[in-house]
Amino acid sequence: MRRFHSYTVESYLAYLRNLKLKRKITDIHLHHTWKPTKKTYYLASNKEKIIYGMWKYHTQTLKWRDIGQHVSVSPDGLIWDGRDVNLMPASISGHNKNAFAIEMIGNFDKGYEKLEGAQLEAVKKLVKGLFEIFHTKKLIFHREYSNKTCPGTSLNKAMFLEEIENRIKILGDSVATKEQMKQYLLTVNPVPKIQCTPEEIVNYYLNEGATEGVRGDIAFAQALLETGFFRFGGIVLPEQNNYAGLGATNATQKGRAASFSSPQIGVRAHIQHLKGYASKEPLVNPAVDPRYTILAERGLLGSCIYVTDLNGKWAIPGNDYGEKILKIFDKFIFFSVKEESANREGILEENKKLKEDNMRMQEKIKKYEALFNTIKKEIDHFS
Ligand SMILES: [Zn+2]
Repeated sequence: MRRFHSYTVESYLAYLRNLKLKRKITDIHLHHTWKPTKKTYYLASNKEKIIYGMWKYHTQTLKWRDIGQHVSVSPDGLIWDGRDVNLMPASISGHNKNAFAIEMIGNFDKGYEKLEGAQLEAVKKLVKGLFEIFHTKKLIFHREYSNKTCPGTSLNKAMFLEEIENRIKILGDSVATKEQMKQYLLTVNPVPKIQCTPEEIVNYYLNEGATEGVRGDIAFAQALLETGFFRFGGIVLPEQNNYAGLGATNATQKGRAASFSSPQIGVRAHIQHLKGYASKEPLVNPAVDPRYTILAERGLLGSCIYVTDLNGKWAIPGNDYGEKILKIFDKFIFFSVKEESANREGILEENKKLKEDNMRMQEKIKKYEALFNTIKKEIDHFS
């Protein structure tokens, strides 16, 4: 049986870097599978079978020499190998010669499934890595050469390319899940010194962030950086509920920083301060950040669009301050939460549907049996 193996993005890129390349690769092709869907993948007890199914279709039905794509990116952010990279793919007819083909498992047409979380981050990281390894910047969406919608109408190439450059904005929707954030924190520090539960602090970041239009997941990553994963130990004391070092500078003594009445208010102040850097829009909630007006006075409001713009502004000199935040963010976005708990709901729902289908079928069978018996009686009667 043709076997397939899964890699993390890092290990797949490491493999490629060591590969002796015998062909020129200049074009990175991006597709979505449409079918199998993300749901099919999640429900499969043996994930390799999903890739094998594509291989079977490509080789047996379409009569290709092997699976068409070089890699498949699964919803859990894994890279599954495929056709030998030294062979051209069966990707976009007439354009395969110098291509590397990626299939993202899912249907990303608007209104169907969403490219998000670990899968989105994996694709971005993969494409960025391929750009470096193959010395190219040429990403091609299948639809550019065909009338298909592939890789899905919900994907915008310009935005995708911007994100690949790690130009992550401070404002916007969070993409990490609550579970990823919580479990990653607890893996690094099982006993965070906070005055609430880890679940609550994650919820505060996501909710307060959503209220102000700030990415709560990014702010949370910043809090992990600023507090040393809520170990504290610097100027700020745990009971001050100050997760972003607001009002703390190197010159002040222990405890000489802003204090907040509760974890929620502490998170709110952090989110507000971050919003101040990222936007000139007024705050939604009354200001609890004591330094918000200082940002305005110094003309800093709206001066940082991207996380890396905080370098030299939020942190001085802070040459790689934003990069450090993104590194932490990267860790939890790839943190896969135990599958059973993440997919239990989907499986239960599927189970229920199957049971209902089964009952309907049983009823139909009974009806047909009755009908059959009636007809049989009639025939017996006439014969
Ligand atoms: Zn395609």
